Amino acid sequence: MDIVKESEPITSEQIADKLKLTRAALRPDLSVLTMAGILDARPRVGYFYTGRTMNSFISEKIASIKVDEIKAVPIVINEELSVYDAIVMLFLEDVGTLFVLDGDGNLSGLVSRKDLLKIAIGNADIHKIPIGVIMTRMPNLITVTTEESAYDAARKIVDHQVDALPVVKLEKENKQTKYKVVGKVTKTTITKLFVELGNL
Ligand code: ADP
Repeated sequence: MDIVKESEPITSEQIADKLKLTRAALRPDLSVLTMAGILDARPRVGYFYTGRTMNSFISEKIASIKVDEIKAVPIVINEELSVYDAIVMLFLEDVGTLFVLDGDGNLSGLVSRKDLLKIAIGNADIHKIPIGVIMTRMPNLITVTTEESAYDAARKIVDHQVDALPVVKLEKENKQTKYKVVGKVTKTTITKLFVELGNL
């Protein structure tokens, strides 16, 4: 990139000369930089620097990944489930957040592990208290849709200091908006994506 910036337009032969490499050895690097839009190749003229940086390439890549591609399977419960059974569920399913549905199967709330810890360390009878009483309720939930980007989801997790976001599909019913849960994005989902991108 530095060589092209200094001496554009420059042919691949000239770049290879400067680096004391063969053109064939250089070809994969040049094609990656061209595909990423960092270099522009003009036939019989040579390579130009487009002004785009590796950072803008990375941020565009992250913004182009949709929630739909990375979402994980959500574990859902209903509002009547006891706090005790919800805690058992948390361990059985090996998750940190449970999403709560109302009688019609629409998203009504969620409980995080800290919500469950908080109630469990008090004097309440966790066998009797239903999840509906302690959950964080709609419309206070931070949600994400399948069309939003992985970056949007990660941003919401950081900004709102939460571990998980329900992925929702909006449905209009008698002028009311209902939310169906179609997935989840959690800190784990984003970490997995980060590892995958690092492997490219
Ligand atoms: P933990 O309690 O396991 O650290 P969170 O940091 O996710 O989990 O939760 C902190 C608080 O925010 C909890 O009271 C929880 O109910 C609430 N919360 C968690 N996720 C969301 C969300 N997506 N939208 C709104 N509130 C949430």
